[in-house]
Amino acid sequence: MDTAVIGQEILATCERLARHSDDTDALTVAYLSKAHRAVAAELRDAMEAAGMTVTVDAIGNVVGRLACGRPGAHTLATGSHFDTVRNGGRFDGRLGIVLPIALARHLHERGETLPFDLEVIAFAEEEGLRFASTFLGSSGLVGRFDASVLERTDAAGVRMRDAMLAAGLDPDGIGALRRDPARMLGYYEVHIEQGPVLLEAGEPLAVVTSIAGGLRYQCTVTGVAGHAGTVPMAMRHDAGTAAAEMVLALESCCLADASGTLVGTAGRFEVVRGATNVIPGECRFTIDLRAAHDGLRDRAFDEVLAACRAIAERRGVRFACERTMQVPATPCTPAWVDALADAVASLGLPARRMLSGAGHDAMMMGREMPVAMLFVRCGNGGVSHSPLETMTAGDAGLAAAATLAFWRRLAH
Ligand SMILES: [Zn+2]
Repeated sequence: MDTAVIGQEILATCERLARHSDDTDALTVAYLSKAHRAVAAELRDAMEAAGMTVTVDAIGNVVGRLACGRPGAHTLATGSHFDTVRNGGRFDGRLGIVLPIALARHLHERGETLPFDLEVIAFAEEEGLRFASTFLGSSGLVGRFDASVLERTDAAGVRMRDAMLAAGLDPDGIGALRRDPARMLGYYEVHIEQGPVLLEAGEPLAVVTSIAGGLRYQCTVTGVAGHAGTVPMAMRHDAGTAAAEMVLALESCCLADASGTLVGTAGRFEVVRGATNVIPGECRFTIDLRAAHDGLRDRAFDEVLAACRAIAERRGVRFACERTMQVPATPCTPAWVDALADAVASLGLPARRMLSGAGHDAMMMGREMPVAMLFVRCGNGGVSHSPLETMTAGDAGLAAAATLAFWRRLAH
């Protein structure tokens, strides 16, 4: 296989798909928008050209199947999502669809079959942009689709169920999409790293060991509002400075983690009814905490919580927090991690192993079957979920070669 050629082809396809957007000046593809349907149609054509039998399922996932012709063969599913965030990047999600299509075409043209059926799944929705409901595509395949989200409405007041019916989909058929784990070899996903680690290390690929589980909290600090000029510093109960100290405690806790996988973020920080000349009386902030293992993450949260309470007591303010999300970590299947690392090393490349701090469809699929993930270097400082996201054709070609080597290892 000529990795340079296949790498160029992968990049060219991602560029072509990026021409479809809901926004004229940015790449935005929301579930079942006009652009979304245009991308789905292009993917369908590409899969057919690669020799696959294509179906669009009840959720709108585009599924291409390359059967090996052996009776009783198991299925290896591979894919990713083709929806985007607002003003997103060209490779996030799409790489994991376009790369296996290119490989399937390569195999098909050479008349080579794998000893398993290959299913390339272009998931219709993962990012949650339109209906604030993530992993729609993959959740259906593992029987975890939350039917209540069908009643949700988008910003224009359109119900998800109605949007699906208008697109010719079958919301009542989602229950039948579940793949029988006994028939599945497992799920494999290629994804752009979405961070700077590989770029900094000067390495093109990494094998994902685990997908971090997330824990999110909404925190409220209540102090006493007062005049910024008349209340002496020593007599204040400033909710803003208390909350700031709590966020710093979160940062210290994560920096002290020896595993290097614990990450904590206060992405929203708000002084409620704040004004320049008023001592903050109430402050609200969020905590997003992730780690390779749920135990580590939960212990860290307990530590942060204890620190917040101590800060609140010392400063004479009230602290309250409410959990808004808890998702367990998904460890990748150890034997598959080893086989994928071996495949990467067979190309003469370092087989770095790393945690995925971001959630991916593999997280959902891994609830029911063996799972592995390959990360590909992100250019431009590692920026993703942005139009500045880049990847080289060379890296895409190496990812394709490593993927094929991994599939062949699974065959043995
Ligand atoms: Zn993604």
